[in-house]
Amino acid sequence: MPRTLPATAAFAALLSALPVAAQDFSNVTVESTRVAEGVYTLKGAGGNVGLVVGDDRAFLIDDQYAPMVPKLRDAIARITDKPVSFVLNTHWHGDHTGGNEAFAQAGAMLVAHDNVRLRLSSDQVMAAFDRTVPAAPTGALPVVTFNDQITFHVGGLTVQAIHVPSAHTDGDAIVHLKEVDVIHTGDLVFYGLYPVVDYSNGGSLKGMADATAKLVAMSNDKTRFIPGHGPVVIGRAEIAEYLEMLRVVHARLEKLIGEGKTLEQVLAAKPTAEFDAQWGKGFLPPDRWVTINYQGMATAPDTAR
Ligand SMILES: [Zn+2]
Repeated sequence: MPRTLPATAAFAALLSALPVAAQDFSNVTVESTRVAEGVYTLKGAGGNVGLVVGDDRAFLIDDQYAPMVPKLRDAIARITDKPVSFVLNTHWHGDHTGGNEAFAQAGAMLVAHDNVRLRLSSDQVMAAFDRTVPAAPTGALPVVTFNDQITFHVGGLTVQAIHVPSAHTDGDAIVHLKEVDVIHTGDLVFYGLYPVVDYSNGGSLKGMADATAKLVAMSNDKTRFIPGHGPVVIGRAEIAEYLEMLRVVHARLEKLIGEGKTLEQVLAAKPTAEFDAQWGKGFLPPDRWVTINYQGMATAPDTAR
């Protein structure tokens, strides 16, 4: 049994040509895990959700897919009777924002980086997956947006969302819970599987590595991380291991692309070879992941590569 199960259901729905409404979530259950005092993570279908429970309100980090909302609500109700006052989206992807409209209708304030609102407001192309994602309904759009960072005070807990530029997308936020030393990474981190890098929407492998280095710098051996995908709680050692993989593969691709190698030559060079056993058994097999990065990097301006 591998350490992490591939999040197949999550990505099948995110990247499938089928609309989410046509996907079957009926067999998905939501499992909650306590991460720290007042902090939980919920795993169902889609990104790992963070739940912060203060004396006065609850705060949600990401909300999976619309059909998952009743199951998320049940899981939240088993933990707290406080209302979900805020939903913060770590980025615009549908497996992290699909529940927005329903939570907003129930009274939550939707919050995200400026670019999340922009991306959700119109149709978006994800070229690597040959997919066009239709604009979200108005009721699903964040009503509070921020540029660099924003801080919330939830009961006794400080919730700080910090933007990291051009990483998984161009609107990523990590969420730092200072008092309890927990960081929700959003999709900067796919632990145990090669990560989606959304080049069509401002993402880059270099940016993901730089942002992951920031996670290492702002943490210590006791910090707990909730990654966007993969197991619900990991430590700094796992983040450092992920960073090493990103850095090594990025450096190799940069060199091969700089030498003018074709995609076929780059694939033949197997730039991910020693990482494949651990990272290549998830949604993106090695060749597919290398292809996405090659195409994204080869067409990016030098400064963004
Ligand atoms: Zn994502």
